[in-house]
Amino acid sequence: MFSQRAVLVVGKAITPADLDDLTAFGFDVADRLGLTVRVATDMAEDVTQYEGVVLDGTWLDSVTSTVLGTEAMAADMFCIEAADVYAFPSDASCHWCGEAGRVAPRRTRDGWTAPMHFTCASMTRKASATAPTVAA
Ligand SMILES: [Zn+2]
Repeated sequence: MFSQRAVLVVGKAITPADLDDLTAFGFDVADRLGLTVRVATDMAEDVTQYEGVVLDGTWLDSVTSTVLGTEAMAADMFCIEAADVYAFPSDASCHWCGEAGRVAPRRTRDGWTAPMHFTCASMTRKASATAPTVAA
């Protein structure tokens, strides 16, 4: 069975307004990437318990971003900034099956895929694991 861990969303969370903004960003990330998201409210999070880290803004926008972002990189996990999340169109058709729907770039071991369904992405992962050489 295919299971997926959550992604940790990190940013400035000092005031209640900061936390509202960060939570809204977290929902956006979950929607765009089709991933389960948890919003980090302080630096006590263990990033290795997550799939990776998404920064609200950049590395330098908060101490938490810098610390947890660095920890994610040190643990060889992915860590992306907000601009990268919005760099992909979210309304394209699936690059695996060609059908429209909830498609988004998917994270794989090798990087990001073209926009596709969550289930299609897990199939490509399976396909590439069993058949590494695919004729064009
Ligand atoms: Zn698809």
